[in-house]
Amino acid sequence: MAGTRKPVVEVRRSQRRRRTVSAYRDGERVVVLIPDQFSRAEESEWVDRMLARLAAREGRLARSDDELLARATRLIDLYLDGYGARAVPASVRWVTNQNGRWGSCTPADRSIRISHRVQDMPDWVIDYVLLHELAHLIVPSHNARFWALVGRYPKAERARGYLEGVAAASCAPLPT
Ligand SMILES: [Zn+2]
Repeated sequence: MAGTRKPVVEVRRSQRRRRTVSAYRDGERVVVLIPDQFSRAEESEWVDRMLARLAAREGRLARSDDELLARATRLIDLYLDGYGARAVPASVRWVTNQNGRWGSCTPADRSIRISHRVQDMPDWVIDYVLLHELAHLIVPSHNARFWALVGRYPKAERARGYLEGVAAASCAPLPT
């Protein structure tokens, strides 16, 4: 393995953002989302801060609730960007009491729960399950509009096949 390298950073400015800064890893790159009004000095200060935070988070908290929220932020940025606050959950957490489903979403309080049974699956499957629930914040039912949103994720079909395979092998339920 190579030693520690400074990652390539891509800064994205957003007019929608007021004060919040967030960051996520995308392959070799780190994407940092900042408000459009930030000065260059603020930008560089926040990039350093977010890189340190990301490194700490990755070292300490693999697949924790914080990591799940960072994952949600990245998925919203990539696939649900036009929906603004409507796509942003109030809470995202891993739960162990959800044997009937892979994930669930309560649009009324904007909370999302993901079953711990998904925790050991590949990243691209976790992303699908999470994006599915995020899309329910925008469209609660499984109608054509909903599936069009989920279909923005390139591996949606493959992930559904993966989950169906796991369900068939373990008598677990089909993805909801
Ligand atoms: Zn669903």
